[in-house]
Amino acid sequence: MSEVPGDAVERAQVLRQTLEQHNHAYYVLDAPIVSDAEYDQLIGELEAIESQYPALRTPDSPTQRVGGTAIAAFEPVRHAVPMLSLGNAFEDEQVLAFDQRVAQTLRGAGQLNGPEVAYFCELKLDGLAISLRYERGVLVQAATRGDGQTGEDVTHNVRTIGSIPRRLAAHAPQTLEVRGEVFMGQADFEALNQAQAQRGEKVFVNPRNAAAGSLRQLDPKVTATRPLRFFAYGWGQCSEPLAPTHDQVLDWLSCLGLPVNQAEHALVQGAQGLLAYYREVQARRSSLGYDIDGVVYKVNDLAAQKTLGFVAKAPRFALAHKFAAELAQTKLLGIDLQVGRTGAITPVARLAPVFVGGVTVTNATLHNEDEIARKDVRIGDTVVVRRAGDVIPEVVEPVLALRGSETKAFQMVSQCPVCASAIERPPGEAVARCTGGLFCAAQRKQSLIHAASRNALDIEGLGDKLIEQLVDKARVQSLADIYGLTAQELAGYERMGSKSAQNLANAIAAKREPPLERFIYALGIRHVGQSTARDLARSFKTIEQLMAANQEQLLAVPDVGPVVASSILRFFEQSHNREVIEGLLAAGVKPQAPELGRGQSDFAGLTFVLTGTLPNWTREQAAQAIMAAGGKVSGSVSKKTSYVVAGEDAGSKLARAQSLGVAVIDEAGLQRLLGAPE
Ligand code: NAD
Repeated sequence: MSEVPGDAVERAQVLRQTLEQHNHAYYVLDAPIVSDAEYDQLIGELEAIESQYPALRTPDSPTQRVGGTAIAAFEPVRHAVPMLSLGNAFEDEQVLAFDQRVAQTLRGAGQLNGPEVAYFCELKLDGLAISLRYERGVLVQAATRGDGQTGEDVTHNVRTIGSIPRRLAAHAPQTLEVRGEVFMGQADFEALNQAQAQRGEKVFVNPRNAAAGSLRQLDPKVTATRPLRFFAYGWGQCSEPLAPTHDQVLDWLSCLGLPVNQAEHALVQGAQGLLAYYREVQARRSSLGYDIDGVVYKVNDLAAQKTLGFVAKAPRFALAHKFAAELAQTKLLGIDLQVGRTGAITPVARLAPVFVGGVTVTNATLHNEDEIARKDVRIGDTVVVRRAGDVIPEVVEPVLALRGSETKAFQMVSQCPVCASAIERPPGEAVARCTGGLFCAAQRKQSLIHAASRNALDIEGLGDKLIEQLVDKARVQSLADIYGLTAQELAGYERMGSKSAQNLANAIAAKREPPLERFIYALGIRHVGQSTARDLARSFKTIEQLMAANQEQLLAVPDVGPVVASSILRFFEQSHNREVIEGLLAAGVKPQAPELGRGQSDFAGLTFVLTGTLPNWTREQAAQAIMAAGGKVSGSVSKKTSYVVAGEDAGSKLARAQSLGVAVIDEAGLQRLLGAPE
């Protein structure tokens, strides 16, 4: 296995967690915390890390899954054909590469009729995707995309949208599932927000969230008052054969009475045609009257689309070319050094306040020493800032044209600014680290912040500021000390009233029996994220057994490779880490062994291999269902495979499973495991 540097593993983990939070805020709550450009930056960064180190690409990564989850308040609707996302491009080069890949595949398949690929170009409407099911021409069901497999039933609400026909023209097929975007125009959005504000009700961040919030209403009467619009741009199931090209199918949908954005389509040839369309739309974007966040390119020929197929969560035959991220210029006043949980030293730019991406920014990451040198960023420079980080934005580059004579180059120090221990930078690593370990107050604070966080021990009320005070006053030296804090004592700290002190003491007491996986994750072992912690808990059942595990036993755990195994071994070799655990156990903390009941989370830690033709599902659909339930799908059978799902004509993978003694199930068995009603 190729070595994956620790900072890449760590960064990927942070990015995944952050993206999950953003997905929840955006898709479930309709109230994003960051701009789309920032979200796209983060997912782009994760994609780059995963493509550089494919070992880090897990099936449950946000790069591999469609964003939202249907909420329980709506009836679930299982999509007959999954509703996917779109691949993204931001730069012209990415569009050229997309066109090259498409052309090459089609040429290889003998499906390139002419020198260039014909593409259908559309606007990327910034609303939310909807699926409309018509039976014998009558609208019978409308569903949101949800996680791509299961959406939310919003039929009653959709029936209140004027531009969506309840009945199609007479020649409509027996079954037709139409897909498109529900959105809100800018003027309607402004008027709605004004009215909401006057009534003292919630105002929306942008038209997209207003549209999503209006559609995902429990009371259709509310939806009926909202000015929602709809354009169709695709389809799912259809009981009749379709015309051979995308533009012809859209014309047909339009003839059936569905609104199609006819005025904004274009049929173009090759990459240059795509780029010309992009520029032309970008130039008049502001006069459209509704928000778009880019344009969408689709291979026009449907047979060619079929040949190109799909990757995990998006078609290979389509691409969303998005408009650029938000940038701003400001002055770099200084560079501070931050010490992270594992001692990683991050240079952070101190900036003159600047408004970018919807907020005022005063700090931005400079990543590491090499990045500062590569970009030639100097203190005193005017710099371009992009709001792109999970917490803090980033410095993109200096504006050389504005560089004065008073700039100063950055120099990494040799001693930790917090604990004065030596700073080391191992050869080949980009990150410099403080060698102080838990002697360093900064590392101690960060490990406690991590341990108390939502995904770890989840101790509500134990925030960053309080942890800082507890460490600075030497009241808390290690995690175990947290369990000795009393309400009376806590009330003596800054910003702690007696009520919040009591609440926190209760919260600490309530977390004395954490699930083992959270306990393991809370320890902050390098390379052990939530999913690995879950696998370890399932395999070892107790913390004592995990501490006693040898390399061979660790390597037998799904997804644990040599890097993770040696990191775990190293962690438990250190006496101060063992002391932390012993201290916790002595303080009465009792990690609980995982229970293997039925339900979706059972799939976490399970690896499936699909082989042969399944009777009802395509392999893609089966894989999506497994991943949606938290399982992993792998291409090859090994001792670590939990199940092989075999269909008709299964070949060597089935034989290998049998020879290794791996459980083999059929599609019905898989559905039973999934708890599906079928
Ligand atoms: P996407 O929005 O990039 O592309 C897929 C979607 O595009 C479809 O589901 C559909 O709704 C829409 N679309 C609009 N016009 C279309 C057309 N002509 N043809 C086909 N589809 C069209 O991908 P996604 O997976 O839906 O969401 C990811 C994006 O959502 C991110 O790139 C980000 O911009 C945004 N997002 C933002 C946050 C946040 O916190 N701000 C969180 C999650 C997602």
